Amino acid sequence: MAVPALAVRDLQKTYANGVAALKGIELEVAEGDFFALLGPNGAGKSTLIGITTTLVNPSAGWVEVFGHCVQRDRERALALLGVVPQEFNFNQFETPLEILVNQAGFHGIPRKLARERAEKYLRELQLWDKHAVPSRTLSGGMKRRLMIARAMVNEPRLLILDEPTAGVDIEIRRSMWKFVSAINAAGTTVILTTHYLEEAEQLCRNVAIIDRGRIVEHTTVKQLIAKLDVETFVFDAAAELPAALPEIPGVALARVDGSTFEATMGRAHDLNSVFAALTGAGITINSMRNKANRLEELFVRLVEGNKAA
Ligand code: ADP
Repeated sequence: MAVPALAVRDLQKTYANGVAALKGIELEVAEGDFFALLGPNGAGKSTLIGITTTLVNPSAGWVEVFGHCVQRDRERALALLGVVPQEFNFNQFETPLEILVNQAGFHGIPRKLARERAEKYLRELQLWDKHAVPSRTLSGGMKRRLMIARAMVNEPRLLILDEPTAGVDIEIRRSMWKFVSAINAAGTTVILTTHYLEEAEQLCRNVAIIDRGRIVEHTTVKQLIAKLDVETFVFDAAAELPAALPEIPGVALARVDGSTFEATMGRAHDLNSVFAALTGAGITINSMRNKANRLEELFVRLVEGNKAA
């Protein structure tokens, strides 16, 4: 089997203050994937990225980048990795060109090649006219693009972007996605953390959802959207249910106890046909309620967490 771009094994992190941020994460991202990591605030996304970039030490478990353990084989792992963190962490007094050339130096890239690469990525991210001005004079959107250009100088095989479009206007967001989609099409594996389901839907193939330090969903984006598109109702019958529940096209019935059952159906499905079938089967309904979709609850928290941030 091919070596995954990212492999996370039983990763745990408890901070010194006792907060258990990661409680045994298992995750694999295949080479070439465009992968979304979704989760509400405080879920553990930054901790996971921090461990991957060796800024945070795990309490247990390990992370591998293309088979190189970031703890034991740090240099080789970091050589294959590009990371765009949330906050601007470059020296604002340096010019974009200096920032990229210095970053290349950190990766041991010879100066001439460093200069060529810096120019290439500053051009690709439409920053070349600003290459010689102090970076503090750049607009917010330009600073975001500078962070991406800097993460590209070592031409990483895995690029991780931590909420790169938070607070970025739509125009800049589009140009960033164009760039990132193109490098993914050219073979770079991309992992993106985001609060926006639509962003994941438009860009990503696979997705993991992290909540309270655990992976609670690991699937394709298409399947995730399909799961969000169904709803479940809980029915209480007036009497004991018959041995066989009726067959209703497009509706899955599941017995909960002697007189209670659940019906799961697509959002567009009408309830009249459900009631008609139940009446036909001699089942009288006393009450019915909507059962909240676990994923939907998660997304409500995601959106609310985002508002609070
Ligand atoms: P996310 O990036 O998904 O918002 P984080 O990884 O930042 O989540 O945080 C996960 C949990 O760990 C939160 O409860 C947060 O308060 C806690 N946490 C994060 N960093 C630290 C730290 N340096 N010290 C103590 N607790 C931390």
